[in-house]
Amino acid sequence: MKYILSIDAGTTSSRAILFDKHGQAQATAQHEFPQYFPKESWVEHNAKEIWSTQLKAIKEVIASQGITLDEIGAMGITNQRETTVIWDRKSGEPVHNAIVWQDRRTASICDTLQTHASTFLSKTGLLLDAYFSGTKIKWILDSNPNLRKRAEAGELAFGTIDTWLIWNLTKGKTHTTDVTNASRTLLFNIYTLEWDTELLRLLNIPVSLLPKVVSSSEVVGETEASILGKAIPISGIAGDQQAALFGQLCINPGDVKNTYGTGCFCIMNTGEKAVVSQNKMLTTIGWQLNGKVTYALEGSVFIAGALVQWLRDQLQIIKAAPDIEALANTVEDNGGVTFIPALSGLGAPYWDPEATGAIMGITRGTQKGHIARAALEAIALRSRDIIIEMQKDAGVSFDRLNVDGGASNNDLLMQIQANVLNKKVIRPDTTETTALGAAFFAGLAVGFWKDEKELQTIWKENKVFHPINDPTTQGCIERWEERIPKVLKSK
Ligand code: ADP
Repeated sequence: MKYILSIDAGTTSSRAILFDKHGQAQATAQHEFPQYFPKESWVEHNAKEIWSTQLKAIKEVIASQGITLDEIGAMGITNQRETTVIWDRKSGEPVHNAIVWQDRRTASICDTLQTHASTFLSKTGLLLDAYFSGTKIKWILDSNPNLRKRAEAGELAFGTIDTWLIWNLTKGKTHTTDVTNASRTLLFNIYTLEWDTELLRLLNIPVSLLPKVVSSSEVVGETEASILGKAIPISGIAGDQQAALFGQLCINPGDVKNTYGTGCFCIMNTGEKAVVSQNKMLTTIGWQLNGKVTYALEGSVFIAGALVQWLRDQLQIIKAAPDIEALANTVEDNGGVTFIPALSGLGAPYWDPEATGAIMGITRGTQKGHIARAALEAIALRSRDIIIEMQKDAGVSFDRLNVDGGASNNDLLMQIQANVLNKKVIRPDTTETTALGAAFFAGLAVGFWKDEKELQTIWKENKVFHPINDPTTQGCIERWEERIPKVLKSK
């Protein structure tokens, strides 16, 4: 066994990556697939296009290395979470386009169920929101009486993208998901680890639709031999954020990773304890490994890299996103400027959808560089807001933040992040933390790697940013805390 094949089924592309024993990505193949926007706030994928691009990426990555299939020990899968597919068990044909996590069409279903929000929260750790799969399944079944009839007769199957791909990879033999994906459906009790009868009844979803739930690291089946030419065990499954948490080896309570993309996705390991947030963060399953469940808290910042895009596209003070670093480095500090990035309201811990953004503290001396620096500080400070709340919720301390995502390549941003948190910030060598996490889960299940200790010996950092707690940082935090309340509108 020389490689683990990791499948990263993302929101815009299907990727396949071969990892070697050292956790190094040896080859990658990637194919984008179309996004469909049939109506305002609707987002769909064609599940068959996800499968065909995924299969193409898998075949390509194997061919690119000229390896034999015997050299692949196992396959791990990580995926965009919550996206919902329903298909016919006999024909394997989807009955509707996949409804993507971003799709808001079921917001009104959530409104009508609000009286049960606390029931959903207490069992699933989730807010009753259109984001999650439950109301998407209900919407598909409600859209056509015939579909509901077929679902009730046991003719249909539901799955998130992991489940859909495994169904196809095994030619319909395996209908399975893992605890992390199940924990994002609004149907799964994260304490008993079972589909919840009461929640299924509230959403009017027949249990016969649902996949078997397994741990994140165990052999769940093997690819049908004719698909790749040889059967390969499938032995790891995890939703993307959870896979990234594991890929960052955030394996102890308090370990936390932040992904800097368009928004920031922050997720903290809370150990064997499922922590209920006082601040509308989500409680979720991090993974289940060797029978043991690790829980996590999850929070997100909606506008992070998007702020850099705004400076690029709207204000046009930079040409490309990475240029912001050089521009921010033309000045020594923010010159008293604070950028409040409430471009689409402000999320946790402020939860003010009406808030609008602001650039405060401008004087005649204010330069472009100050605005650029204040924007980077805003990304770091919003992440700090979330991480501090998570830490309060979890009651655990942490000493480092692991980072990934496009904007984590910005050294200045990472240094600012270390400064405002007063913690070390660690950027890993690989940028493929999500795929690496899935590979780790798959590899552990088949003995490719022995245990987490061995994983620690191969995990490499690219750079560590040590905090500098100087008066500039203090001033920046103080002004932030003083100025944020000025943009809050809803009471
Ligand atoms: P996503 O997966 O959300 O598309 P990526 O992880 O690809 O995001 O990161 C892209 C985002 O990061 C964009 O919003 C972009 O503006 C921002 N970004 C990329 N490189 C940098 C950089 N060097 N400095 C600051 N922001 C960056």
